[in-house]
Formats: sequence, structure tokens, C-alpha cells
Amino acid sequence: MIEPPPVLAENWRDMTAAIAASPAAAAPAAARHSLLRGLDYSVVQQCMHCGLCLPTCPTYDATKLERHSPRGRIALMRAIADGRLEATRTFADEMYFCLGCLACMTACPAGVNYAELFEHARAEAEQSGVLRNPRRRFIRWLTVEWLFMDLGRLRLAGALIRLYQQLGLQTLLRRSGALRLLPRRLRELEAMTPVIQPKFSSALIAPVTPAASPKKYRVALLTGCAQDLMFSDVNRDTAEVLARNGCEVVTPPKQNCCGSLHAHNGELGLARELARRTIDQFPPEQFDAIISNAAGCGSHLKHYGPLLADDAAYRGRAEMWDAKLKDIHEWLAAIGLRPPGPGVAAQSVTYHEACHLCHGQKITVQPRQLLRAIPNLTLTELPESAWCCGSAGIYNLIQPAMANQLLDRKLRHIVSTGAAIVATGNPGCLAHLANGLRRQELRVRLVHPITLLAEAYRAEAPPPL
Ligand code: SF4
Ligand code: SF4
Repeated sequence: MIEPPPVLAENWRDMTAAIAASPAAAAPAAARHSLLRGLDYSVVQQCMHCGLCLPTCPTYDATKLERHSPRGRIALMRAIADGRLEATRTFADEMYFCLGCLACMTACPAGVNYAELFEHARAEAEQSGVLRNPRRRFIRWLTVEWLFMDLGRLRLAGALIRLYQQLGLQTLLRRSGALRLLPRRLRELEAMTPVIQPKFSSALIAPVTPAASPKKYRVALLTGCAQDLMFSDVNRDTAEVLARNGCEVVTPPKQNCCGSLHAHNGELGLARELARRTIDQFPPEQFDAIISNAAGCGSHLKHYGPLLADDAAYRGRAEMWDAKLKDIHEWLAAIGLRPPGPGVAAQSVTYHEACHLCHGQKITVQPRQLLRAIPNLTLTELPESAWCCGSAGIYNLIQPAMANQLLDRKLRHIVSTGAAIVATGNPGCLAHLANGLRRQELRVRLVHPITLLAEAYRAEAPPPL
């Protein structure tokens, strides 16, 4: 049973009436600084209340309450932008009950930019301070402001978790039952501890990987933050696949978080700082493309232009950056993927669409084309493949009930396909699905599509003598 946060009203009519009756509506706070009010008003007022997005929204589907729908949330945002509502605790709770999955953007006939509204709404919630308490303040400082602002610190934390796992302490604690002494919430978080890779990307990928075939392109590869800790093998596979497709791959050993985590959690200032740093690390004028293999990051990385629009020193380069930033599936399709030769064993695969790939970047065809190019691979369509799995950045940490309900729904569909492998292009989905598969003891292999392609290249029969 989902326990939605207690907010305004349950249907559209009651909701608009409640907003109209709020004390702030009687005396609009024109002077109060509002991030939502600072947005271009054409974005704020674009929703025409048609409701076509409602059936595609996972939180509305689960609760059938208007306040948990895109239309309801946009009404709250607009009321704040107009000064008719204060950014209250209920508003902030609502913004953090939203997955940010962007399914509503795909459904919307009016082209409402929910992604921009959502980021500014969460920033408004943070700025208002209504969620502030010492515990939350400390956790946000430790993670968003400290760990994820410096990948050296994040790697150190990853190395400690890896040691804990490799020494068998995690297994010992889990088997001994000692974890039962922890509070329930801590037990739940411990169960979600990701498996840290034996080596980080900088130990697996050379700073420059030469093209395996005649060089046609020079590209840069982003190895990410969480991706680097949990899926450095996917980064290595990506570099290999790019090289096999005529790309010289530049992979700077020192990279930083792209700022997606910060932007989605109301820290737009830190997100801008990380965007500037990333542009400096990967000067866009030096590459034909800058490649991301993580859907959530890619979706954010393609919008450095709007993020830095007020920064005269970076605006132009940020726009060039956006034009050159490509998801790996998108780039391979654009340059003409070399299909692997025969050799790889038969495999049955289903494909889960990461929200920020299909809704955030509108990339739906290319991953399927990539999978179908692999010999001996049978692709079975996953029912509701574009429905959020509940990962949604750190949503599974802050809203576990909703996240687990969506995870169970996704796993039921995966099982229904009978596929032995589920492929998906986002580290958050991979980690969240891995937790669900382990909990339900399901024997399904979980993999990034690019890994299947890399394996197929490695299995190619050698050319006849
Ligand atoms: S982002 Fe997802 S959860 Fe949030 S309003 Fe849109 S469809 Fe609903
Ligand atoms: S589909 Fe678009 S215009 Fe219609 S209610 Fe949803 S956000 Fe508003």
C-alpha cells in the first residue's frame, strides 16, 4: 500500500479550488523570490489541463489522485510562480513523490517542458527550507555537496565498500543475522548496497583507445560517477565497441559527476558548477561527439546550454556541447553500426527502456536496432517497456514503497517474456532491477545492450585464411 504525502486535493476541480482558496492567493507574494517565477512564463503557463498525461504517470496510476498527476503538479508550480501559493511542506513532498520519469512529456500534445519545471520546482522546495532538518541536512551535505562533487572522494567510498564486500564481511553480516539489530530503514538501505566493480574505469580504459578499423571519428567517453563504481565494465565495453566502429576514444582518467544528481535534487547552482568543469575536461571543439552510455546522465548532459544560458563565458560552448553529446545507441546508429559476424551463442533477450532514454532523449528505436544486429539474438518485447522501474535516480532510496511497487510490476513483466537476459541502458535501472531479481531469486541476467554487442564482437569467428 502506497502512503502518498498529505497534500492539497484529490481531483482537478477540488485542487484548483483549494489553490484559489489558499491565503497566498488572496494576497499574491509579488516580491518574494521564486525560482519558478524566474522561469520563462511560456514554460510555466503551457499546460492546457487536457489530462492526456494522466494515464502515463506512474504515481497517478498508483493512487488515482490528481495531486499526484503531472497536471496537478504543474498547477501547483504555476500557482507558486504566480504568487498564489507558498512553497509549503506539502508542495515539497509532492515534488519528491514525483519520479521525474518524464513519461508525461512523451504523452503531452502541448509540448510542456516538464523536465525544466520539475528541476526548478525541486530547487524551489529546497530554497524554501520547508524540508530542512539536521538529519536531512547532513545526508545531503555528505552526498550531494561533498561525495558527488569530487570523484576522488566517491572512489574512496567505493573502494571501502568493495573491501567490505571482497573480505566477505557483507556476506558474513547478512548470514549471521546481525543486520536484524539495525533499524528497519537501515536494513533496507544495506540490502540496496551496490556491488562495486574490482577496478574503476581508469584502470580498464587507456586515456586514448585507437580505432580498431580505419579512424573516422574522434570521440570522448564519459565514464560517469555511479557508473564508474558499479559498471566500469560497461564503460570498457563501450570504449571497445566505439573503437571497433572506427572511433578513436579519448577517456580522461579524471572526470567528475555530470551534475544530473544535483539538478534533479534541487541544487541547480552545484549542477552549473559541475557542467562548467565537465565542459573544461572535454572541450567540445576537439571532438566529433561526446559519448554517454548512462541514460539519466545523457538526458541531463544534453541540456548544458539552457543550464548555462546566463553564463556569458560558457553559453556558446555549452550549446556546442549539447549538439555533440550523444547517447551510445544514438551515435552508433548515426554512424552506421558494423554488425558483428557470426560466432556468438544463441540468447533470448528482452529490453527495458530507461525513462531518460525513451522519454528524456526520445531514443527508442536505436537500442532495439543494436540488439537485433547481434547474430543469434532473439528479442522479445517487454510489456510496458517504457514504464518506470522505480529507480529514478535516488527515488528508490527516498520513496521505497512506490519504488518497490514499480519494481515488482517490472519484474512480473520481465518474467512473462521468458527471456533469459534483460538489457537496459541506465546504471540506476541496472542496480534497482538487480536488487529486485536478487530479492525474488530470479535467474535472469541483467546487462547493458553495449555489453551484449561487445561480447558478440569478441565471439566473431576469425576470417578464413
Ligand atoms: S515525471 Fe513521471 S511521475 Fe512525475 S508527473 Fe511526470 S509521469 Fe508522473
Ligand atoms: S498532457 Fe500536457 S497539456 Fe495536457 S494536462 Fe498533461 S501536461 Fe498539461
